[in-house]
Amino acid sequence: MAEGACMNQILDNYLFEAFANASDTIFVYVTDMKQGITRWSDNAVNFFDLDGEYTYNTAEMWLENIHPDDREIYQEDISAVMNGLSAHHNCQYRVRNRYGEYIWVECRGSVSVDTDGEPTVFAGIMTWLDNQNKYDSLTHLMTSYELLRHSFHDSGILMLIGIDYFRDINSQHGVLYGNKILIRLSEILVREAVNATVYRFQGDEFVVYGKNMSSLEMAALFRRVAKKCKESEKESGLISFSVSAGITAYTPMDDVTKVLARAELCMNYAKEKSPTHMTIFSSEIEKKQTRRNRISEELLRCIKNDFKGFYLVYQPVYDNEGKRVFGCEALLRWKTENEEIGECYPNEFIPILERNGGIIEVGYFVMREAIRQAAIWQKRYGKIGVSFNVSYLQLEDSQFVPAIIRVANKYEVDTSCIVVELTESVFAADTILVNHLFSALKKNGIKVALDDFGTGSSSFWTLHKINVDIVKIDQAFIRGLEADETGIDYAIIESVGLMCRRAGFQTVAEGVETQAIWDKIKGFGFEALQGYLFSRPLEVEEVEKILN
Ligand code: C2E
Ligand code: CA
Ligand code: CA
Repeated sequence: MAEGACMNQILDNYLFEAFANASDTIFVYVTDMKQGITRWSDNAVNFFDLDGEYTYNTAEMWLENIHPDDREIYQEDISAVMNGLSAHHNCQYRVRNRYGEYIWVECRGSVSVDTDGEPTVFAGIMTWLDNQNKYDSLTHLMTSYELLRHSFHDSGILMLIGIDYFRDINSQHGVLYGNKILIRLSEILVREAVNATVYRFQGDEFVVYGKNMSSLEMAALFRRVAKKCKESEKESGLISFSVSAGITAYTPMDDVTKVLARAELCMNYAKEKSPTHMTIFSSEIEKKQTRRNRISEELLRCIKNDFKGFYLVYQPVYDNEGKRVFGCEALLRWKTENEEIGECYPNEFIPILERNGGIIEVGYFVMREAIRQAAIWQKRYGKIGVSFNVSYLQLEDSQFVPAIIRVANKYEVDTSCIVVELTESVFAADTILVNHLFSALKKNGIKVALDDFGTGSSSFWTLHKINVDIVKIDQAFIRGLEADETGIDYAIIESVGLMCRRAGFQTVAEGVETQAIWDKIKGFGFEALQGYLFSRPLEVEEVEKILN
């Protein structure tokens, strides 16, 4: 057999692959001595910044990487092997990694010879000896341990960058797949951050540290990285993903933990804005984030404290003549004694609850309260609908829908009067799950309303796919009628009304604030009206005055 073919077989064989992936701190190499080609494991290519999986003139290239003080020992050992004086290479020395740092390795290998005694293959492994804490074994980047030991001697910019919804990637595709995404991001960062150092900070977060960089340069770097992540599917076969980042400047006077805290604050702010967002530190952002964090902590404290300060108000929904109360929408309120926080409305605290996870427990509280109230009103006033809002996160909790049914049974409420309000984000996520939950609600007579229809990603297609009972036209739309100079809002609302009627959905117009607006929509055939013109959200006693 031709020797070349034989060698290629060795270079390509599965055994190599198996060893090459055995450990993050073991590097594998195999050299075809006749052709002077060396094949390296991927982790070696990455960590030592080699030209590629196959290198030529490897001996010279490698010798250059070895610490000058260790070159002699290395050469002595390797030439003994090459000259047939020893069968095994076994030597400890320092070699430069891609950061230009020398690390200790133990290199062991052996040579095979042909029938003439000529060396044919030289293969072995290199074990990284002193990697404790300093390098991350998955990405081979320096760790946060290294970063925290760091003190800034210059001024520059630090960016904290994290993967959006990384938890979802892990849960949907598995942790090993998640690891691949982390490696992918680390590679993109290293490639793009030419004049900066990259650290794996923690979990899905990385730090890019750019000495003498400006924040604009760092922002440009972020955009390049974000673009590559978005194109990941095309370029690497892995799924595309998005990243968000916080950027802050530092000076030699700064303490590294403080700089990191500022970057983290900006990154969290960015993540709340939208995926692929980047925020540069400013005192205004710091103020906003500080308030947010304070509210978040206080909300969680109140939840633990038996939902202290949480209560529901009810906004009556009227019939199309604005005379009879059809039902009520339960709206959450929260009063805190914390004076620094002061007044805080749902538009501010609901997104915080969605972020800190509190919405799950608070959602159960809202559901129980609303159904309990519905039962009381039904006994007193006959049929009156009560709707409550459910956030998309609550539906991911498989216990939630069964709990609604349980609570409705417990209070012996007529379920046809219970309405669950969901926004379109729920339907965007997972229609199979949503449909499943829907049928469970429907089987038990509970109604479902599509809230805020007409905004964001709302589409007729959703209405077509999802079998809702009620469509609530978004108040921004209705309120827009007042300043609707082009008549476009008018035309849209009119056709939405028509379409809903034809399709058999009940419709509610939200945000009817003035008589002028009401006059404009009178002919559209909406079944129910909700808005300040008729009533603001009220406490229970006030609602009862109206119902009486
Ligand atoms: P939403 O579900 O669209 O609720 C209607 C909001 O519009 C309420 O604000 C209500 O007070 C307000 N509104 C009603 N009529 C008018 C009007 O004529 N003009 C104006 N300008 N506003 C009107 P609120 O209570 O501040 O709630 C804001 C949002 O917070 C709600 O919007 C809902 O998305 C969310 N939310 C409220 N309570 C809950 C809850 O218990 N759970 C969840 N997940 N979200 C809730
Ligand atoms: Ca609503
Ligand atoms: Ca709404």
